[in-house]
Amino acid sequence: MSAAPPLPVHDPSTAPPFELFEDVACILCGSESREPVVTAQEDLTGKPGDFTFVRCLDCSLVYQHPRLPIHHIGAYYDDEYIAHRKSQSWGKLTGFFEWLMGKLDRDKTEICQRYVDIGPETKVLDVGCGAGGFLAHLHETRKAVGTGVDFKDLSQQIGEFGGGAIDFLHGTLTPELLGDKRFDLVSMWHFLEHDYDPLGSLAVARDALNDGGRLVIEVPRLDSLTAKLYGRRWPGWQAPQHTVALDKACLLRMVEQAGLEVVDYLPYGAYPGYFYVYAGAAFVLKRGRGLDLRRAIVSYLAGQIALTPVMLFERKLNLSMQVVVCKRPGSA
Ligand SMILES: [Zn+2]
Repeated sequence: MSAAPPLPVHDPSTAPPFELFEDVACILCGSESREPVVTAQEDLTGKPGDFTFVRCLDCSLVYQHPRLPIHHIGAYYDDEYIAHRKSQSWGKLTGFFEWLMGKLDRDKTEICQRYVDIGPETKVLDVGCGAGGFLAHLHETRKAVGTGVDFKDLSQQIGEFGGGAIDFLHGTLTPELLGDKRFDLVSMWHFLEHDYDPLGSLAVARDALNDGGRLVIEVPRLDSLTAKLYGRRWPGWQAPQHTVALDKACLLRMVEQAGLEVVDYLPYGAYPGYFYVYAGAAFVLKRGRGLDLRRAIVSYLAGQIALTPVMLFERKLNLSMQVVVCKRPGSA
């Protein structure tokens, strides 16, 4: 039997037609009772199209419905997508970008280290690892052993980081992809809100934890200050890539429904809260026409300097991010 021909993929330079979208039942409870919340746009790069988020009338989860089928969504993760961006492609701004990403990796490490003692024997799985920066940082600073999963094939970039010290797995998070690998730390930095099957991925992550292992999840927080401030231009919608927008209650319910036990909850993340303060303001001004990231850097920095006194209290302000730390029930 021959393989099925590849499905045609929608070109994101035009708005996706209505008939392309698929209906989605609530990701948490399966209900199809819903009310519209916002019509969001692709504010980051300005790709055309309107994307609707709804609230489940039975469990209050906010999710994208209808949405693009998964084989169309890859085209929206193009080279502008910051997580997959090679540092070299930033030209004169490479130094600043490397400092920013270095700080992000240090802040991620600081959060994880509270729950897992990260050292030379520590096995770490980063789900949605992008170019692998976090794993490279853990390898360089603590000799941790890293495995990265991303649906984008980034194997050409492995050479950048420690001569193949990271084991990159290309695909979606399934038991087959991980095989018998088990981990002391599984991280999901801004992965879950992109996932077409978050409950399934959480279950795979749960089963991949060693005894005493921890799963650290960071996602944007829907019941946050920037979400209230910016409405439909809130960067946390990031349509069409985000499938779900989680408030604290729904995030906790989701991990528990996936059979995980909550160890801790943080009303902030490693990701700078200021980024959403800045990007939301820019998105309001641009009204869906997209940001020129290179030109935005100057105003980004100016705003950061101006807001420094406020940002000293960032972790108390509930600006935009949240982290939940979980373990397998019954595990140490
Ligand atoms: Zn529901």
